[in-house]
Amino acid sequence: MTGVATLPPSLSFIQRDWLSSNHLLGRSPTANVLVDSGYSSRRELTLQLIGHALGDAGLHRIVNTHTHSDHVGGNAALKARYRCRITIPLREREAIARWQEDKLHYGTLGQACDRFDADDWFDQGDLLEIGGLPWQALGSPGHDMDSLLLYQPDHRILVSADALWENGFGVIFPEFFGEAGFNAQAATLQMLESLDVAIVVPGHGPLFYDYRQALERARRRLAHFQSQPERHALLALKVGLSFMLLDRGRLLLRDLEVSYGELPLIQRINRQYFGKTAAAITREVVDALLAARAARLADGWLVAVSVSQPSSPRR
Ligand SMILES: [Zn+2]
Repeated sequence: MTGVATLPPSLSFIQRDWLSSNHLLGRSPTANVLVDSGYSSRRELTLQLIGHALGDAGLHRIVNTHTHSDHVGGNAALKARYRCRITIPLREREAIARWQEDKLHYGTLGQACDRFDADDWFDQGDLLEIGGLPWQALGSPGHDMDSLLLYQPDHRILVSADALWENGFGVIFPEFFGEAGFNAQAATLQMLESLDVAIVVPGHGPLFYDYRQALERARRRLAHFQSQPERHALLALKVGLSFMLLDRGRLLLRDLEVSYGELPLIQRINRQYFGKTAAAITREVVDALLAARAARLADGWLVAVSVSQPSSPRR
């Protein structure tokens, strides 16, 4: 395709799925750096993909945009193999050091994450070198209050994590904890508006190039959620169940009321927005996934549909 920007040769994009975050790998004579590391249950595949992309070279550092389980789950396995350093957003320092699983939303959503220790921290305004290029760290509260994005002004590349996808953005979790997450996301979209961007490297989904259109879609989606917050709450419940389903492939229907409906974060959202029993809300969310053809039923099991495959590394 003509007219579409490409990543410079020192950067490789590895697309994963909705369970594991995408990776951006930057190579340079001084350090090979990986941005985000996928979900823990897929650690073997992560090691394979990153090993393939690196060839004989080593990995020196992992930089995490935020500490959600689908972005940091490969940290421990990669560190064990490469003895690389791990760099996380400064404001997540304490939660990771003390491994506060509730604060990190691992246990409360039925997710697992291999424990790791961070070695360094970065914050908004810092400059990081990835692929021999300087990247600016940008604060992006909303989906996660402490998340940081990375912007490379010379090549106009934005690593947007879960703050901006081609079609929307990640669930605004702070809304469920009494924080003004929607307002924070609005401010983040406004900040992004001022950037000149040719290529977006999102946390999930393919690279995309029409930045203005993605911002417009994100603004409309946010306005929709702000006017009908229960729609956003229902989306969060669906995302929670889809994630479990992607991880395990299938879930026994008769256990779901407990294994899903009674998870602390699911209960919290149900209490705040719907006030239903665990059984009733579970049934509603299952029905919504079936209606969206995101799952099907087979012999008493809820089965995942269309788990997208990772692509080979490409630039
Ligand atoms: Zn996230």
